[in-house]
Amino acid sequence: MRSITKPNLDASVVFSDCVSVVQSENLRQRLTACAGLIEDAEEEFERKITRGRIHTIAREDRVNGNVSVKEFMNLYTGRMVGNPLGRIHYDKLLLSAPNGLCPLCGHRDVSTLDHYLPKSKYPRLSVVPINLVPSCKDCNTGKLVDFPVSPETETLHPYFDRIGNQRWLSLTVNKTTPLSVTYSVVDVLGSGALIFERIREHFKAFGLQSLYATQAARELTGIKLQLTNIFDNGAGFPGVQRFLRDSAESRSIDNLNSWQAVLYEGLANDDWFCRLGFRTIA
Ligand SMILES: [Zn+2]
Repeated sequence: MRSITKPNLDASVVFSDCVSVVQSENLRQRLTACAGLIEDAEEEFERKITRGRIHTIAREDRVNGNVSVKEFMNLYTGRMVGNPLGRIHYDKLLLSAPNGLCPLCGHRDVSTLDHYLPKSKYPRLSVVPINLVPSCKDCNTGKLVDFPVSPETETLHPYFDRIGNQRWLSLTVNKTTPLSVTYSVVDVLGSGALIFERIREHFKAFGLQSLYATQAARELTGIKLQLTNIFDNGAGFPGVQRFLRDSAESRSIDNLNSWQAVLYEGLANDDWFCRLGFRTIA
């Protein structure tokens, strides 16, 4: 997960623009009457997100007694994604991820917006900007949890959680044939802090263990010959280790917890890999 800047965009502006292009006068009036509830929902979300309280936000199947979930979902799909006036806000949020990198997995390209709390259960958050996170398609559709039920099951939120200043991703080198690696989340501080439980939940919910292991396997295949040449051309174990350490340092600058940074660091710290193990890469 990578942190990104919280959007400077009020829910009231997006909601009002989306509602203004609703054709049915009856629906437009019923939605307009919800304006205050939308601002309240934004305020509640902001107040609860970093306090482990987001799971206490009420799910509902109707807003203000007379607007259905489906009508709110259509407001997002038809008036924010599908109408030029709402689309301006949609595109602004989409472009807020640096380098177009999905902040949820930190690997694939942004192509859509993900509702942190799903609009099907939390309709009044359908077009609230702080509930809309730029994401890749896989993270958007493949999330394994629907909504949080406790503080520990609240996945990370890129606008609010700042977790990049310490390493929480760890690598195990498996002495299998061919060699493989396993990523896991570690509580580096041994603190039992809630944030590590949430990082674990995030890692699981977005299938990052498998994504990173697959990418690492490709990376390993790509450097096998390079490592063999460094070792056999006279630099030996220290040469291989130095190359891996330099690679880890270089990749840590952008993101301390990128799968690449953690891969190279983990390989450099494994004496078996640096002496012999690299020859067992597939
Ligand atoms: Zn993603």
